[in-house]
Amino acid sequence: MRLDQGPVAARQWDACTRNNPECRDPRGAVTHAFVWTWLALAFAQGCAHHLPSPNATPRDDVTLMPIADGVFVHTTWKTLPGMGPVASNGVLACDEGDGLLVDTAWNDAQTARLLDLAAERGCPVRALVVTHSHEDRMGGLAEVLRRGIATYALPDTVARARIDAWQPSLVVSPQTVRAGQVSAEVFFPGAAHAPDNVVVWLSGSKVLFGGCMVRAASGETLGNVADADIRAWPESVRRVIARYGDAVRVVPGHGATGGTELLAHTLALAEAAQSQGR
Ligand SMILES: [Zn+2]
Repeated sequence: MRLDQGPVAARQWDACTRNNPECRDPRGAVTHAFVWTWLALAFAQGCAHHLPSPNATPRDDVTLMPIADGVFVHTTWKTLPGMGPVASNGVLACDEGDGLLVDTAWNDAQTARLLDLAAERGCPVRALVVTHSHEDRMGGLAEVLRRGIATYALPDTVARARIDAWQPSLVVSPQTVRAGQVSAEVFFPGAAHAPDNVVVWLSGSKVLFGGCMVRAASGETLGNVADADIRAWPESVRRVIARYGDAVRVVPGHGATGGTELLAHTLALAEAAQSQGR
C-alpha cells in the first residue's frame, strides 16, 4: 500500500527547486542551504553512512509551483514508515487578491506556512475545499479553522472525518464554490480512491485537480487502496473524462502534474485492477 514512490517525489522536487527557483518558499531555501552545509560537514567528518537519503527533504518545506495563470500546485512532505518522504499536492487558485485552496498540507504547521505564503504573494485564502477525508487532504484543517477560513466538503467527507468542531458548507455535487473572484466546480464522480473523493475544476484555466483518484504518469499502481472501491474506480474515471476531457492541466494527489493522459493512465490501472478482482 503506497501513497507514492520516492523517485516520483524526488523528480518533482528537482523540477521545483533546481529548474524553477521562482516556486520556492524563500524560507525553504534557507533550510536547504543548512541541509547541504550539514551534508558537506558530515562528509568531511567521515560519517557518510549517517547521511540522509538524497531524496530526503525538510519536513516542513512548502512549495508553490505555478502551472497556469493564477494557479499553483502546493506540495508538502511527510515521512511515512517504510516509505520515506512522501509528497502530497493540492492547488491554490488566485484572482484579484482572493485565494481558493484545494486541500491542506499534511499538518497544521505546514498549512500555516502555506497560508502565510499565499497571503505574502497577494492571494490570501478565503476558502478551502477538502477532496476527501484522508490526512494528506485535510491534515491541516485545524489551522484553517483557527484562521476563520470558510470550508467546503461533501456530507460524506464530514461524516468520515468525525471532527465535532468542523461544520463546513456542505457540497451537493456538482457545485460551484466561490472565494471572492475565484470560482471552482466541485464534482463527485463516484467512489474510487475513497468513497468520498471529489475532483475540482477551474474552468478559466482548464485545470483539473484530480486528487488521489488520479494517478501520476509514473505511478505504476493505484497507490493507497485502503479505502478504495476498485470495482467502481474505472467508471468514476470515465465520468471525469466525460466531463473534463478538455482539461489542459491535470493535477494528481501525488506526483507530477500532466494533461489528460493522466486520466487515461489511471483508467488503465483501474481497469487492470478491476479485472484482477482486487
Ligand atoms: Zn486519500
